[in-house]
Amino acid sequence: KYRRELQLRKKCHNELVRLKGNIRVFGRVRPITKEDGEGAEAANAVTFDADDDAVLHLLHKGKLVSFELDKVFPPQASQEEVFQEVQALVTSCIDGYNVCIFAYGQTGAGKTYTMEGTAANPGINQRALQLLFSEVRGKAADWDYAISVSAAEIYNESLRDLLGKEPQEKLEIKLCPDGSGQLYVPGLTEFRVQSVEDINKVFEFGHVNRATECTNLNEHSSRSHALLIVTVRGLDRSTGLRTTGKLNLVDLAGSERVGRSGAEGSRLREAQHINKSLSALGDVIYALRSRQGHVPFRNSKLTYLLQDSLSGDSKTLMMVQVSPAEKNTSETLCSLKFAERVRSVELGPVSRKAELGSWPSQEQLEGDSSGTTAPLG
Ligand code: ADP
Ligand code: MG
Repeated sequence: KYRRELQLRKKCHNELVRLKGNIRVFGRVRPITKEDGEGAEAANAVTFDADDDAVLHLLHKGKLVSFELDKVFPPQASQEEVFQEVQALVTSCIDGYNVCIFAYGQTGAGKTYTMEGTAANPGINQRALQLLFSEVRGKAADWDYAISVSAAEIYNESLRDLLGKEPQEKLEIKLCPDGSGQLYVPGLTEFRVQSVEDINKVFEFGHVNRATECTNLNEHSSRSHALLIVTVRGLDRSTGLRTTGKLNLVDLAGSERVGRSGAEGSRLREAQHINKSLSALGDVIYALRSRQGHVPFRNSKLTYLLQDSLSGDSKTLMMVQVSPAEKNTSETLCSLKFAERVRSVELGPVSRKAELGSWPSQEQLEGDSSGTTAPLG
């Protein structure tokens, strides 16, 4: 009975995803900060529509350019408001879905603020784990759950473990020997976490490891991708049914174009690796969203590592972070173009309204049993 119920839920879910698509692109504009300078330099170049929260306008070189994403958060949007829009995505891991949340944008645009946040104002990472704990507790009467976390960094196309004893060791991505087609990373540490305190310890440890052997953590973190991988394994005690869901929280390397500043040597090499992996990510999301047969997962470590969490019935959220400052409009324009490119794919005869909105709630999923049965893709 339970198995049938889960299958039914999955079918309803797939149907809704077919209608709405399983890739969302959000924008978030950070407030003007002191670092933006003063006067004209720090002038605000981004404006919003009062009646459409999916649109923003950028004044670039005297021209107003408008963009439509799935949703746009203005500078005054709080961490809570942002999290509200992603929480259904987070909890779907408990039902066995794989989820990716990326923060994309130039250095200083607010990626780390959105993902990690501050002690007083935690971001998605912390809130997601807290929510998972409380949801899992609510189901404890029937289900056993285990939540574990891994943390990794990709720098110059090499992958390293941020929670292991050998943080400098390069890790490889391998195919599972069981023939399932799944990927895994031998040697990547996975910590079982039982409480919010455990998570904080894990976060601190990861930070320390990330900082070792680099002279400037800020600079280093802007040139590497940081991944927090949360695995939620469930066991239904009465039926023995098992589920595994993965939540991948990714603070991407800065998307700024470096070539212009005449970079050389290691800086140029870093920039080339970043460009390559960010455009590979864009290509993959575009291919998935437009339901192309071939998805070029293997063009970068990042997309290869996340292949299982990007394909199939997985869900992806790209949070494109931008600065509102006048002096950043060239980069802001590039980031918003990236955002538009990955989302501007016709999904067939689906009205725009049906495509928009937040992730479906469980009630919606269960209530949505519309009869059309066209296959995905
Ligand atoms: P990135 O990780 O993209 O390089 P950060 O997250 O470090 O950028 O943000 C740059 C600065 O702007 C930080 O001081 C951060 O605290 C601040 N900041 C970014 N977004 C917001 C926001 N939404 N509200 C308040 N401060 C923000
Ligand atoms: Mg950062």
